[in-house]
Amino acid sequence: MALAAHRWLMTAPKAPMVQSRFDPLPLAAGEVAIEIAGCGVCHTDLGYFYDGVRLNHPLPLALGHEVAGRVAAAGDGAKDWTGHAVIVPAVIPCGECEPCRRGRPNICRNQKMPGNDIQGGFASHIVVPARGLCPVDEARLAKAGLSLAEVSVVADALTTPYQAVARAGVTPGSLAIVVGAGGVGGYCVQVANAFGAKVVAIDVDAEKLATIGKHGAALTLNAREKDGKALKTAINEFAKQHGLPSTEWVIFECSGTAAGQLTAYGLLVPGATLGVVGFTMDKVEVRLSNLMAFDARAIGNWGCPPELYPAALDLVLDGKVLVKPFVETHPLADINRVFEAVHHRDIKRRAVLVP
Ligand SMILES: [Zn+2]
Ligand SMILES: [Zn+2]
Repeated sequence: MALAAHRWLMTAPKAPMVQSRFDPLPLAAGEVAIEIAGCGVCHTDLGYFYDGVRLNHPLPLALGHEVAGRVAAAGDGAKDWTGHAVIVPAVIPCGECEPCRRGRPNICRNQKMPGNDIQGGFASHIVVPARGLCPVDEARLAKAGLSLAEVSVVADALTTPYQAVARAGVTPGSLAIVVGAGGVGGYCVQVANAFGAKVVAIDVDAEKLATIGKHGAALTLNAREKDGKALKTAINEFAKQHGLPSTEWVIFECSGTAAGQLTAYGLLVPGATLGVVGFTMDKVEVRLSNLMAFDARAIGNWGCPPELYPAALDLVLDGKVLVKPFVETHPLADINRVFEAVHHRDIKRRAVLVP
């Protein structure tokens, strides 16, 4: 048996990706071959392609770690998945090591990230372990007016902030602040809102703020117009007006910029939680002792445990988190053009490549 498949391989940074044929079969025990419906283009992919961020798998490699599709073939022990619509976790923990068994899959040293550790989702098919796949109820999907390709963004853009919001302990009545309100940050606003928080969104882009003001942010603030002190004053006034606490703010840094990190850190109040969601190689200078003095905490977030994917997907299928206004699909064959367009910010929504 053979399965005709192709993938778009990165051969060197910035070199046009090239189409290459492969056969996903035979599969090892516990593996599935998924016929891809769509794979989102993430800024991490651009980092690998344009900025030389190190990949764990040697080149050539297909990038792409936001995959949704249908199980086309399954190895021993995974046959029940055949035919099912699924979302592939962006980071797949091994499930067997000591941290995995202790409930810390995020720090599994044997985890596999498509398009980094293994061949990724800019392809017609992908081979992954069946462990951790998130089933998609296609009747609910159709009812929500969504395609399987569109919910591929659940596999990173949504689940990364979902786990950050869940881990930070956002509850009804929390005051949540999201710095960097586009892409991942936009979903962070929506998820925190769905968890019952009143959400303040901060960005330097007026257009993004206007959009997120319609999708879950109760207050939007432009960091180009207000310095750190003025931002804090504005949020304090907002808190007073809405009967929200002046302590224990939950702050999410989603911009992945040094400026955004400084803004987020400057908003610490007693008992605050700072969730670091965005990534940058840049360094910032902060007074770390503010954490001590405020009895505050800063927490990192790497990926999202597969166990949380169904609940994150539920928010989308229930209409509590909107995906549709924030994605656009493009043919996979246009991958090189789409990467350029995302790189030059000509495409502002999440681009999903459809084979
Ligand atoms: Zn990503
Ligand atoms: Zn593990």
